[in-house]
Amino acid sequence: MTPQLSVVVPCFNEESGLEDAIHKIHEHCRTLELRYEILVIDDGSTDKSWEIVTALSQTIPEVQGMRFSRNFGHEAATSAGFKKARGEQVLILDADLQDPPELLSAMRSKLAEGYDVVYGVRRSRAGESWLKLASATLFYRVFNVLTDNPIPQDTGDFRLMTRRAVNAFLSMPESGRFFRGMIGWIGFPQAGIFYDRMPRQTGQTKYNFSRLVKLCIDAIAGFSVRPLRIAFWTSFIFFFSAGACLVAVLIDHLSGIALPGNNTGLITIILITGGIQTLLIGIIGEYLGRLFLESKGRPLYIIRDEITK
Ligand code: UDP
Ligand code: MG
Repeated sequence: MTPQLSVVVPCFNEESGLEDAIHKIHEHCRTLELRYEILVIDDGSTDKSWEIVTALSQTIPEVQGMRFSRNFGHEAATSAGFKKARGEQVLILDADLQDPPELLSAMRSKLAEGYDVVYGVRRSRAGESWLKLASATLFYRVFNVLTDNPIPQDTGDFRLMTRRAVNAFLSMPESGRFFRGMIGWIGFPQAGIFYDRMPRQTGQTKYNFSRLVKLCIDAIAGFSVRPLRIAFWTSFIFFFSAGACLVAVLIDHLSGIALPGNNTGLITIILITGGIQTLLIGIIGEYLGRLFLESKGRPLYIIRDEITK
């Protein structure tokens, strides 16, 4: 029989807290008195995470799992979980339980009001570094200026979705995936619920600064061509500046009056134009690289083991 709820849990090297987390999710779902499945997607862990999933799947009938052949990233793990999920509603929940499963009842009530996506909005984020908080704020601002489908501020991937929203998400074939942006893009009525985000109880965050920067560039370049347009308009500014300089030189030549100027100014202008040109080539390169990766049409992930019931 189709489960009413699928809980997708992406996990990467979470051996320290995974067993507790799955027990907690299981206990909580049981109190809701519905048919559910817990799908743990092991994103190529090199610790004992998969052994834990295998052992728990033998004692808890609702636990199933999938293990990737290597680390493909959180976005791929989420997509795999959505594909495997059979539930009428699908919840995405991190394995470190920084987001509380207790919010599920409130989220289900919101879906009952007619929403298709209910996401958690972080009222507070205990235990996060100032660098992460500042970069997150900056990211939402930049992303929303550059794209036509803004994502709500202070949200993560923690969200409950209806079957039709999940199917819409699964119909998007691209390999450069940014979950939050894609969910914004599919449309349907969406609503947020405020909550206080817990600090991580065990283990380490998998998102260091360089991974966050990569996610940020992936998100923007995957969702907007506006940076390319900015490149186009910047070239106009230089074109007109060059025109103005040409006029000045002509006046200088014809009138015989020497224009004040020095080499430092010239060098600065050359460096600025050179820098901007390289930046623009870099931006174009980002898009070209993405086009190249998409054109290969590779699968999002490779499955090493799977537990299906
Ligand atoms: N994760 C994953 N693949 C990765 C990185 C992370 O499946 O390559 C999982 C991780 O195990 C956790 C969730 O994604 O369950 C969120 O990661 P994390 O807690 O490190 O991110 P943060 O909460 O610090 O943003
Ligand atoms: Mg976390």
